[in-house]
Amino acid sequence: MPLALKKRLPEYEFYREFNNTTRSFKKLLCFSLNRENKTLWDLWGYMYNDPCQSHAESIVLKEIERFFKENHPDTVQKYKLTLYMSFSPCYKCCESLANFLKSEERIDLHVRASKLYFSQNSSNQKGLQQLKHLGVSIKVMDKEDFQDCFYLFVNELKQFEGWPDLDKMSVDYSAALEAILNQCETNTDSGKVSADIAALESSPLHTDPTGHFDHAEDNLAPDNNNKDRPSESETPHKHSIKDGCVGSSKGVKRKLSFED
Ligand SMILES: [Zn+2]
Repeated sequence: MPLALKKRLPEYEFYREFNNTTRSFKKLLCFSLNRENKTLWDLWGYMYNDPCQSHAESIVLKEIERFFKENHPDTVQKYKLTLYMSFSPCYKCCESLANFLKSEERIDLHVRASKLYFSQNSSNQKGLQQLKHLGVSIKVMDKEDFQDCFYLFVNELKQFEGWPDLDKMSVDYSAALEAILNQCETNTDSGKVSADIAALESSPLHTDPTGHFDHAEDNLAPDNNNKDRPSESETPHKHSIKDGCVGSSKGVKRKLSFED
């Protein structure tokens, strides 16, 4: 499916993909780009891994490069890029993100992941460590992050509803991530995952250590023309225009216009 630019993520897709206690069908990434000290987003949207093309991260990075090129932004202007992901990036995408950061020093990257992607795979661990080394803020999503993601990308008028064991799994994943990120510093056998995480990672739909969730999952990819998806004119963005912006109470605002 194409990159969904400036489109809301359907609620059922959010809960299906971001639930940290269930197996995921796809890799889903929600992203926002805004200038430092600005709350309005310049670019935002969401993307699934594309079985025929690249991983979601690479596609989003290309879009951001295109945005910079077309808009000729001030090269000294700093930007904040936030990625909410159903899974942490695989080692290939960590490499892509690292290369992107090296070529775009104006980017301050924040990664928020619901689940860890094959956290016992040493290549994936090294990829995450590389990002940390480059100053990326990497964190496992907790309840507040899920709330923020829902608020920002799904529906700011509805209440996020957590699921059983959300906190427990978040704590477990967070501990595993911390162990991975601190591995170099402590030089101990870290990166251990709990039985819950190990069970999820060994599930039948979760068996590709190369970093791809692309197999046999494209049929499950949401269709942009899905009848359940609200049209642009129905999205709360436009309903909220009279208020100027939404989300001011959280200090984060969405750009309310849509691309032609
Ligand atoms: Zn990847």
